[in-house]
Amino acid sequence: MTIKTDKISVEQICAIIDEMYHCMDDYLYVYDIINDFYYISPNAAERFDMPSNNFNNVLEAHHRFVFPDDMPVLQKDLDKIVSGECKSHNLQYRWMSKDHKPIWINCRGTVSYEGDRPAFMVGCINEIGKTQKADNISGLLGLASLQQFLETYKDALPKGFVIRLGLDDFKEINEKLGSDYGDMLLRETAKYIGDCLLENQKLYRAVSDEFIIIDFDGNSTEQAVEEYKSIRHAIDSFVEANHYEAVFTISGGILEAEDCIANNFTDIMKFSEFALNEAKRRGKNCCYIFTHKDYDKFLRKRHLTQLLRRSVTRDFEGFEAYLQPLFATSSNELYGAEALMRFRTDEYGMVSPAEFIPVLEETGLIMPVGKWMLHKSLELCNTIHKYIPNFRISINISYIQVLKSSIISDILSAVDEHSISPSTVIIELTESGLVTADSRIDKLWSRMKEEGIRLALDDFGTGYSNFNYLKDLKPDIIKIDRSFTMKAIENPYEFNLLSLIANMAHNMELKVCIEGIENLEELDKIKNISPDYCQGYYFGRPCPFNEFMETYIQSK
Ligand code: C2E
Ligand code: CA
Ligand code: CA
Repeated sequence: MTIKTDKISVEQICAIIDEMYHCMDDYLYVYDIINDFYYISPNAAERFDMPSNNFNNVLEAHHRFVFPDDMPVLQKDLDKIVSGECKSHNLQYRWMSKDHKPIWINCRGTVSYEGDRPAFMVGCINEIGKTQKADNISGLLGLASLQQFLETYKDALPKGFVIRLGLDDFKEINEKLGSDYGDMLLRETAKYIGDCLLENQKLYRAVSDEFIIIDFDGNSTEQAVEEYKSIRHAIDSFVEANHYEAVFTISGGILEAEDCIANNFTDIMKFSEFALNEAKRRGKNCCYIFTHKDYDKFLRKRHLTQLLRRSVTRDFEGFEAYLQPLFATSSNELYGAEALMRFRTDEYGMVSPAEFIPVLEETGLIMPVGKWMLHKSLELCNTIHKYIPNFRISINISYIQVLKSSIISDILSAVDEHSISPSTVIIELTESGLVTADSRIDKLWSRMKEEGIRLALDDFGTGYSNFNYLKDLKPDIIKIDRSFTMKAIENPYEFNLLSLIANMAHNMELKVCIEGIENLEELDKIKNISPDYCQGYYFGRPCPFNEFMETYIQSK
């Protein structure tokens, strides 16, 4: 249908737009081709980077808010409209938002003619990416509706809570039983959750298999936990009534409404997502109550992960190998050093390895960083060998490196590259990692022995201390963890136990290294069990290479 221009004027269309735009999410517009003038719903000028909601020099002005790459297609289309070649417009392209982000829009319009001449085009623009307001599978309102509802609370939310619920492992159910079955489960779950709602609560469907309950009725998080439990119970009964055809559970992230202060919708989204993920991370089929402390810890870890990644791409900027001396107990002479990784950032200063090593392991970054550390430690050792040729360097290797990288050839080629005698290298592996013992560990172990590289079982006394490990693996050294050393110093029973272990190790011709000796008193007690080597703050803290050289090597 074409509008007859003698029936309605551009001014009248503008007036209609002004009347109608309040009650719609889309943007209405009129493009007056004869006078080169454009008029759009006033809210479009708040959303997009346009000079105002009405302007002349239409094509020229579009340059400001159309995503530059999309300008040629738009221009081509508008040329056809203006020349009369084309009577309608239907184009998907991007406009720039006020905060300079490209937003996909769908722009449709119909041209009206004055005789043969195109006079104006009226039409409608909608944002393609805008979240659905309702979900036809669960029959619930969606996130866009939640956002709209929250706009009523500008500064702070009323007292109450938010629960974000998520089905556990829903993807697997969909894969195994088909998406129709998955849809049915979502519908049923929505129904069961709905049945558990208290008065004045609202239920929305968030992304895929997640639901959000909003309680602004002043109820406490304790009540939220109770509500979660009754939902879980309802789901369990459903699974049972369904003869366990699909066995699934539900997790919940609970948030006190007061924890969301300024930007309500954004806060609710990010805090509740975190809370639900945390519940899943803590084992699923459970709920977790949001705290800012946990969230800050999560943000710090996420940021630290970014910093570690960045450092790897920047030639390991911020990483350093510190050295801590190891002394031979009988002669009181420097035996070698343990290489300990350090990571320094502008934001956090020195980060503890206890914090960043697990992140390196989780992300797999331990592979490149561990390799870097291996080379760095051997490079430092090479310099020390010019002063003390049989100085030992002890290097920590993570199980992830053993299981996921070609660690054997990495070690052997690094030893070769730095011209280090293998007999001066010690590889440390923690006792706890042996629980996941794997043929690759045996292979590493035997290959190192073949090459004359020595092996230390680290953190002995913190895990199961299974003596079979000692019998089967026959490490060269066992390193007694500081926690065990401390217990032995304070408690006679533990002291006897440590003595027995040390005796047994000596009978098996293994060396014993005691870690964590901080003062002379501790050393005197520990000497009674005749350890072969000692390590601890009493002998020296881990320090940078130059300091190590000045203190222990060049001063000799
Ligand atoms: P670890 O291998 O048991 O290293 C000994 C830890 O005890 C070091 O902590 C050291 O600073 C600390 N220590 C030494 N003497 C004393 C003492 O007298 N008193 C006390 N309280 N502590 C003492 P650090 O350097 O913080 O390293 C922590 C852990 O991080 C290491 O424990 C090791 O498991 C891991 N790590 C460090 N560097 C590396 C590395 O290059 N690769 C791998 N995979 N792990 C590493
Ligand atoms: Ca160690
Ligand atoms: Ca240790």
